[in-house]
Amino acid sequence: MSHCPLWRPVAVAAIALLSSGFLTAALAAETLVVYSARNEQLIKPVFDAYTRETGVQVKFTTGDAAVLIERLAAEGRNSPADVLMTVDAGELWNAAERGLLQPVKSDVLARNVPAHLRDPGNRWFGLSMRARTIAYSPKRVDPATLSTYEALAAPAWKGRLCLRTSKKVYNQSLVATLIAAQGEAVTERIVRGWVANLATDVFANDTQLLEAIAAGQCDVGIVNTYYYGRIVKERPDFPVKIFWANQGAGGVHVNISGAGIARYSRQGAAATRFLEWLSGSSAQAHFAAVNMEFPVNPAATLDPLVKSWGSFEPSLINVAEAGRLQPAAVRLMDRAGYR
Ligand code: FE
Repeated sequence: MSHCPLWRPVAVAAIALLSSGFLTAALAAETLVVYSARNEQLIKPVFDAYTRETGVQVKFTTGDAAVLIERLAAEGRNSPADVLMTVDAGELWNAAERGLLQPVKSDVLARNVPAHLRDPGNRWFGLSMRARTIAYSPKRVDPATLSTYEALAAPAWKGRLCLRTSKKVYNQSLVATLIAAQGEAVTERIVRGWVANLATDVFANDTQLLEAIAAGQCDVGIVNTYYYGRIVKERPDFPVKIFWANQGAGGVHVNISGAGIARYSRQGAAATRFLEWLSGSSAQAHFAAVNMEFPVNPAATLDPLVKSWGSFEPSLINVAEAGRLQPAAVRLMDRAGYR
């Protein structure tokens, strides 16, 4: 190298840049790009807190998970994305299967996120836990008659059950984990029983379903608890209650909103620090509370309204099963006539 006449001036210039604070300036301007299926109002306050604490800017694009995943795939190596965030484990599983996420080695994430709420291959991690359980009318239903998702298939509930559409990934994940726990034949009998018990057409969303119970259109249904929380926050006397399903019988079906690092991110270390921070107890409390969900980190505090619903035993089936068995769940629901 010493015979190269250009070497010395270039090296001197580089050293001068480093010592003049060039490196610190570059770090301060660090920006992470997140593709998020989680709504802007649920991520922005938490991302802003990260920027305040660390100086790292977080840019994000929100959209439907399937669209964001296609975009990641189409962009390939040229993708600007560092992190993919979704609101269902099945979507993260799909992204990982398609090779769009990179494995992350982090003792912090392994410690903060329970094993059943993250990818066994470390390509994605739950950041909030969402419980999908039974909602009922306390006027028309004695909670002592409630027990499990399976029991809602019994003739006692004929004409009394409301369900959201099977097209929603939340129900596909619920049925996928029923298949994981009980096999296809038993699950198909359950789903056929649900369909036979429907009070009315399936609903487009959980909020409409809860309103239908309140209005007396049906007596029971299956919903994500944060939709219930959003209503009750505004209307404390809303005439619907939450029942924790399958206690002592496999636990409440839980899913996650979570994230993984994009395969071609050039900022793996910075993205890992970001996910680690999100899994920490203070960010966790905030990230869960903005949508009245449950933190994945057991050290984080619960939103008071969420806490008022009481504690429950969650299913410990790894949420990855929701992805692996999703195609089987979709076919099963179709066969069973669940629209
Ligand atoms: Fe939702």
